[in-house]
Amino acid sequence: MGILSAKLSAVKPSQTKAMTALATSLKEQGKSIITLSQGEPDFATPENISRAAVAAIHAGHTKYTAVAGIPALREAVVKKFQRENNLTFTADQITVGCGAKQLLFNALMASLDEGDEVVFPTPCWVSYPEIVKLAGGTPVAVETRARDGFIMQPADLRAAITPRTKWLMLNSPSNPTGAVYSRKNLEELAAVLREFPDVWVLADDIYEHLVYGDVKFCTMAEVAPDLANRTVTVNGVSKSYAMTGWRVGYAGGPLEIIKAMNTVQGQSTSHTCSISQYAAVEALNGDQSFIGKFRRAFEQRRNIVVKMLNEIPGLECNTPDGAFYVFVGCEALLGMTTPKGQKLATDMDFAMYLMEEAGVAVVPGSGFMADGFIRISYASSEDDLKNACAAIGDAVSKLTRA
Ligand code: PMP
Ligand code: GLU
Repeated sequence: MGILSAKLSAVKPSQTKAMTALATSLKEQGKSIITLSQGEPDFATPENISRAAVAAIHAGHTKYTAVAGIPALREAVVKKFQRENNLTFTADQITVGCGAKQLLFNALMASLDEGDEVVFPTPCWVSYPEIVKLAGGTPVAVETRARDGFIMQPADLRAAITPRTKWLMLNSPSNPTGAVYSRKNLEELAAVLREFPDVWVLADDIYEHLVYGDVKFCTMAEVAPDLANRTVTVNGVSKSYAMTGWRVGYAGGPLEIIKAMNTVQGQSTSHTCSISQYAAVEALNGDQSFIGKFRRAFEQRRNIVVKMLNEIPGLECNTPDGAFYVFVGCEALLGMTTPKGQKLATDMDFAMYLMEEAGVAVVPGSGFMADGFIRISYASSEDDLKNACAAIGDAVSKLTRA
């Protein structure tokens, strides 16, 4: 009998973390690598937010807090949901955890019995199927297509729902495709959900503020208020406020599930760091003007990267509406041979080739349940992005077809 549980043996480590760890270790060995494998803004956390954290330390806010988060933060989240999403919650309908990732985990741990199903569109974030499995559930992937802009089609959702379906997990803007669900897209999915009153919605809005051009963000509970009593809306400060390391996410939803999520958290991490919670209060209540600044910078970077990548023969990508990823088709390069004589059979082989030959860390599409792609995060400096795209172009030009 081995030490690992059957449940854990089925769970894969995060590919985004694995590729980034490999890049870091190669860098430590002296190799020059541009890391585009982790979705993390390169900006520093805004100064007012950092100052609030320092003040919290000096004020002695260094003790355990309430499991659901300090009252000031829950109030700030109530205001944020009202102001930006037209969602009305009371403070006890809000819970705060160690990043949006933990809120998703808490929601699924609190609700899934063995064999319960969670439906989500693919390509999806690496952690979705694995968190579902950790919580004892069964992931049900619904494939979306590039020609539909990677938007889940209502008929495909309907076909995926069974009597065991507990949740639809929906991430917009999407990691890894950058797809943004419009009001109409959400209305169409809501119409399907009305046919299945026992299916809940887990809305992952972590990239809310990162939408470009005249694209508008909306979320399910806002578009379909009649579904709010079975929707949990998850968000956080990581991406919008350049606060990935602070580990603050939050969720709003019906009292019953929020209470159960607090029980999961109270018996695991207790709560996120007290100091980070004070920083998050300042993030949500303080000056918001840098969000627009971040957004403009990301939009410009997106345009550069999409243009440069589409000029490389064998690679193709659409212009994503949101988040900070491009999901690049590399199918045409599979089967080609590297200068060292290796045949590229999979997107993983291609990603490893880019790491070695171009010195660029990306994540293979297979990590997102979509073979034949690589994901590039453009949350890096313009110089790094231009150098990385040029190096990818050089590496691709060295491939030959036998
Ligand atoms: N959802 C998606 C789709 C993500 O890409 C991320 C990024 N890690 C998260 C949730 C979690 O973010 P965090 O835990 O840093 O709030
Ligand atoms: N969400 C980011 C990504 O996909 C951060 C890493 C992670 O948590 O997976 O790269």
